[in-house]
Amino acid sequence: MNENGSVSWAKKAAALSLRTDAFIGGRAVAAASGKRFPTINPTTGKPIIEVAECDGEDVNRAVAAARAAFDKGVWSKMAPDDRRKRMIRFADLIEANLEELALLDTIDAGKPISSAIVMDVPKSARTIRWCGEAIDKLYDEIAPTAPNALSLIRREPLGVVAAIVPWNYPLFMTSWKIGPILAAGNSIIIKPAEQSPLSALRLGELAMEAGIPEGVFNVVPGYGETAGRALGLHMDVDAIAFTGSTEVGKLFMIYSGQSNMKRVTLECGGKSPLIILADAPDLDAAARSAAWGLFHNSGQSCDAAARLIVERSIKEEFVERVLKLTAAYKVGDPLDAETELGPVISDTQMERIQGYIEKGSAEGATLKLGGNRVAGYDGYFLEPTVFDHVTNDMTIAKEEIFGPVLSILEAVDLDQAIKIANDTDYGLASGIWTRDINKAIAASKALVAGVVSINNYADGDITTPFGGFKRSGFGRDKSLHAIEKYSDLKSTWIKLHA
Ligand code: NAD
Repeated sequence: MNENGSVSWAKKAAALSLRTDAFIGGRAVAAASGKRFPTINPTTGKPIIEVAECDGEDVNRAVAAARAAFDKGVWSKMAPDDRRKRMIRFADLIEANLEELALLDTIDAGKPISSAIVMDVPKSARTIRWCGEAIDKLYDEIAPTAPNALSLIRREPLGVVAAIVPWNYPLFMTSWKIGPILAAGNSIIIKPAEQSPLSALRLGELAMEAGIPEGVFNVVPGYGETAGRALGLHMDVDAIAFTGSTEVGKLFMIYSGQSNMKRVTLECGGKSPLIILADAPDLDAAARSAAWGLFHNSGQSCDAAARLIVERSIKEEFVERVLKLTAAYKVGDPLDAETELGPVISDTQMERIQGYIEKGSAEGATLKLGGNRVAGYDGYFLEPTVFDHVTNDMTIAKEEIFGPVLSILEAVDLDQAIKIANDTDYGLASGIWTRDINKAIAASKALVAGVVSINNYADGDITTPFGGFKRSGFGRDKSLHAIEKYSDLKSTWIKLHA
């Protein structure tokens, strides 16, 4: 017990009962090979438990189960109102198991429990509920034909959709796939990231409990090069919904071309710019959004505001505000309710980020804060790090670091800021702080990015599409557009013989 008389998060985490088998055809099953792989707690650097290591054979079994369920129509042809109710029950069950699911992501991915409890789990439930609610409110179309014909334009589910997801928001990113894929009437196979499979495995049971028929919801934990690749190349998978790096996203396009031309949608990396103009309505709020826009989730967000572009006349003063806020973040054990920033995901990722920090200094940026491992932990903790005097030709401004490293750049005015902002291979998110509506709208049109935030950074909810331009991918998660993406149009022309 802690001083408030409540059981500590660490004790609750230690008492978790972990699901470690794959979930195929409505049942927890071991990998066909019997193999298992360890999932590592990034806070301690030690294995939590071993999980079924699925490969091509398990993918075959999952695809067969998903296809059989689809062909039987147990979900795809269920009355919309019934499907809606079951998805809402699924969302309710996620909420009812809030603490457990939050703790799973905390031990598996180092996510601070404070944010997993208020953000990841409730928003995942909201995503699934919102998509479920839409099911019996979407109408098909009748074409404006001549009177001697009736033409129906109907949306049909695609069939078997595989969702390949990353580790940075294990439950939340998975919910962005589950919601629209199931709402459109498909069967789903989830391949969680090998770093963070635990919450997805628990979801399998909750889906069954909610009444999602067996075979409709499957989870195959395993490595990308085996399980992920097998899904990408499978001849009976109709679509891939991928979230992850640009490099792996490109592989899925190749897999598609080499197999059955399955459709692929890609939510990939970013190097997102946030512009702060001198006339920002509230410089304190702008500084908070700039610092948190990058450092939340220890910088491991696809839409992290990695390039902060500040108008010259306020730059020095603004940088001071950002540094003060950054220095105050509480980095530590994610099971401590006070912790704001947890570890990064792995030793490999930590070394990669440290390499970028070295390059930043070597290429002439000024290290203003951080740059080191946090002492006292065996896990993968890095100090929040700020570089000033960054220019767009430096590696730290060009490549996605995916860690707690902020780059600050300078612009003389809005035009130059937009040029700098758009000078990137990516186009996921962007933002601007200004009190001038004309400048704000001009920027929202000129920024080449799927998302533009004005006087905030990365606010928003399930109602708006999310996704990128350029090498950030294509296709959109969230909103009704995501449901459309997992269905296809069928035209039926009926000749009338009156
Ligand atoms: P990753 O690309 O390494 O892995 C993503 C998924 O792909 C994992 O499930 C992995 O097992 C699988 N995979 C890896 N190699 C594979 C291969 N050869 N064949 C098939 N599957 C393979 O990405 P990550 O490190 O897990 O996540 C970080 C990346 O995700 C960052 O680039 C980040 O920007 C991106 N991301 C994007 C969004 C978005 O909405 N745009 C959201 C979150 C994360």
